Amino acid sequence: MIKQVCRAYLLKGPCQPRNHDFPQKIEANRKRKFVSAWFDEFKMWLEYSIAKDDAFCLYCYLFSSGSSEKGHDAFISGGFNTWRKKDRLRDHVGEVNSDHNKCRLACQDLMNQAQHIEGYDGASNMRGEFSGLKTLILKRNPNAYYVNCFAHQLQLTIVVVSKKHIIVGSFFNTISRLCNVVGGSCKRRDMLRENLKSEDYGRHCK
Ligand SMILES: [Zn+2]
Repeated sequence: MIKQVCRAYLLKGPCQPRNHDFPQKIEANRKRKFVSAWFDEFKMWLEYSIAKDDAFCLYCYLFSSGSSEKGHDAFISGGFNTWRKKDRLRDHVGEVNSDHNKCRLACQDLMNQAQHIEGYDGASNMRGEFSGLKTLILKRNPNAYYVNCFAHQLQLTIVVVSKKHIIVGSFFNTISRLCNVVGGSCKRRDMLRENLKSEDYGRHCK
């Protein structure tokens, strides 16, 4: 099933008609019916079809590629309706590596992909529609969002301005050297911080 369709199903969530008047049927000489409280217990995947009076699993319906696990197919195509055997619902979930849990993880992965945000360099050819990084990322993940990096754009602008104006260029050179000298030593950094806190600095700033 194509990703977009799966995602639409998952966003909608399992079909759980809680207020439906579930029909009764005789099973092993007793009246049985689907119980809406099961929706609470298996909230994320249990589906009920009013038309068929059958239960299904949303995760396995979307992602199962067939399993040899006993009774598994009932939750995908056949429909589960042996209401007296409610334990089958829990059995369906199974152990960590069960087919159901593999399908659950596949669903989670798909939804995570949709929410994944990729950042791009917002400059020059990096955002080129056909040759840029954006295109490469979108090829691998069509759901990546394009987030422009404004810090990088600002830096490029400053580089251009600095090249054209000697005074501006000299200012940024000095700042850059200062950052290297102070940032390269914890002792110098502490000295700068102490000076910033001192009254003397406050007086100059007024
Ligand atoms: Zn399942």
